[in-house]
Amino acid sequence: MKGKVYLVGAGPGDPELLTVKAVRLLGSADAVLHDELVTPEILRLASPTAQLHNVGKRCGKKRVTQQEINFLMAGLAVAGQRVVRLKGGDPLIFGRAGEEMEALAAAGIPYEVVPGITAALGAAAAAAIPLTHRRGSGALVFLPGHRAGSQEETGWREFVRCAATLAIYMPGQNYGAIGRRLRDAGLSGETPCAMISRATTPTQQWQVTTVAGLHSAPRLPSPAILIVGEVVQHAAEPHQRSVLPRDLEQFLLQAREVKHGELIS
Ligand code: SAH
Repeated sequence: MKGKVYLVGAGPGDPELLTVKAVRLLGSADAVLHDELVTPEILRLASPTAQLHNVGKRCGKKRVTQQEINFLMAGLAVAGQRVVRLKGGDPLIFGRAGEEMEALAAAGIPYEVVPGITAALGAAAAAAIPLTHRRGSGALVFLPGHRAGSQEETGWREFVRCAATLAIYMPGQNYGAIGRRLRDAGLSGETPCAMISRATTPTQQWQVTTVAGLHSAPRLPSPAILIVGEVVQHAAEPHQRSVLPRDLEQFLLQAREVKHGELIS
């Protein structure tokens, strides 16, 4: 009997942003192998009988190697289990899904990918930043911030030249260094950017600054993502979050009650 592995996106944090398919698979899984970024609220949706394995790596301290993850995943599937490999955001974006799919294919184990909402999309929605705009940017590029190297710098220059919105994952804590790399790639210091921390979770926060202002911007807790480009000028103010002021909330509640009353009378 052979099991199957589902590479499932857990989205950026809010459990309501999971796909219906992800919720169904979690509820019927025999084993869930999850990353550090997956929130406890989402893990609670796993079947009570499922084995949970945290295979995440924190702060560069490798807890479980990629090879160990591949072995565990394959071993459970060979034993006939339905395995959910749960990754933050989307499994195919900076998620090492490529390596895991290669290992599964080599072992002849069937697998399926279930997409999730990637951090850039969750963060943009939280701060109401249009990632493309008819009068702003017509392209969107996902970049990793943490790897330095001359080849990558060349890549950044090309994206800057085509005025794409940049979504920089893993920006690290050295905001000044990222700002310098962006300017070295030819971006004006005046270009607006937004650092969005823990997007779509109850502790989400963000700040809007400029590429030149990055070095003096306060550090926000990780995970955080940096969105760069003219489109950021449309970002909502951090206090304009979906949380309503108390009196407005009261007003809306009363309005709803009146409407309800009218309907039944
Ligand atoms: N596969 C994931 C990305 C994994 S790389 C996805 O598609 O989103 C990890 C990086 O994602 C973090 O360093 C951070 O830059 C970003 N990230 C993940 N969750 C986030 C969140 N809730 N808020 C802001 N950034 C997040």
